[in-house]
Amino acid sequence: MLDSVTIRCPFCGERFEALVDGSGGDAEYIEDCPVCCRPIQMQLRAGDDGELGLDAGRDE
Ligand SMILES: [Zn+2]
Repeated sequence: MLDSVTIRCPFCGERFEALVDGSGGDAEYIEDCPVCCRPIQMQLRAGDDGELGLDAGRDE
């Protein structure tokens, strides 16, 4: 199941929609920002109620 979540790029501050697949539960992956092309560390969390949360951070 694909969902779109609006996130804010931690580098350039632009908002964009990221497509996430919540069927696999929690996940961490890198996705390049479509605006500034820098790699964003995505942390996907699937809550018990099925609601998806997506955190966007810098890769440390
Ligand atoms: Zn960006």
